Amino acid sequence: MSKQANKIRIALSKGRIFKETLPLLAAVGIEPDDDPETSRKLILGTNQPDVDLVVIRATDVPTYVGHGAADVGVAGKDVLLEHGSEGLYEPLDLRIAQCRMMVAGFPNASMEGQRLRIATKYINSARRHFAAQGKQVEIIKLYGSMELAPIVGLSDLIVDLVESGNTLKANGLEPIEHIMDISSRLIVNKAAWKMKHARIKALLEGVRAAVESKNNE
Ligand code: ADP
Ligand code: MG
Repeated sequence: MSKQANKIRIALSKGRIFKETLPLLAAVGIEPDDDPETSRKLILGTNQPDVDLVVIRATDVPTYVGHGAADVGVAGKDVLLEHGSEGLYEPLDLRIAQCRMMVAGFPNASMEGQRLRIATKYINSARRHFAAQGKQVEIIKLYGSMELAPIVGLSDLIVDLVESGNTLKANGLEPIEHIMDISSRLIVNKAAWKMKHARIKALLEGVRAAVESKNNE
């Protein structure tokens, strides 16, 4: 649980998650004091004296929340599947930052072969996907720019997130198999959920109502 006993700390990443979470926070009356795209501050105050935000790398959000350095966070399902759920609950699908996890490659790429080489940031999800098909694959861990791997012969295929498919197309690749739909989830530290129950429950239910009304428009 966060050391600040009566405060709520929310962990977010910059970019699309921050932008798409802002209206949901606004709906529960939380407005950040600064814009993380221009501010160099790592901890942002809000208009609510008992709420602040930490703005960190997307892959670090479950680590902060799992260890109680933040009480609540917003993380992509892709990131949560790689991180695991130790120390945290995942009570709400925010239905933001929606995309698909796909296998992709050159249009003529073979899905058969002795030991397909798969380049990806998502090694757990990729391994699970191919294991379920009974395929022996070699997983090559990358941290970004997966599209490059087949082009330079590092891998046969990639597993990556796809929204419009334009990045794949721009690199001569195409989606081959759909692995799963991805969206961002509200996560809560387990100890904080007990110790700060009323405050976090109110936040959760307010955000839940905002998600529902937005998706019923
Ligand atoms: P980073 O590049 O630092 O991982 P992003 O903002 O690209 O940060 O991704 C943060 C999260 O947003 C990802 O974990 C994923 O859940 C989601 N996401 C990533 N790419 C896309 C996309 N093209 N469309 C929609 N959501 C995406
Ligand atoms: Mg990105």
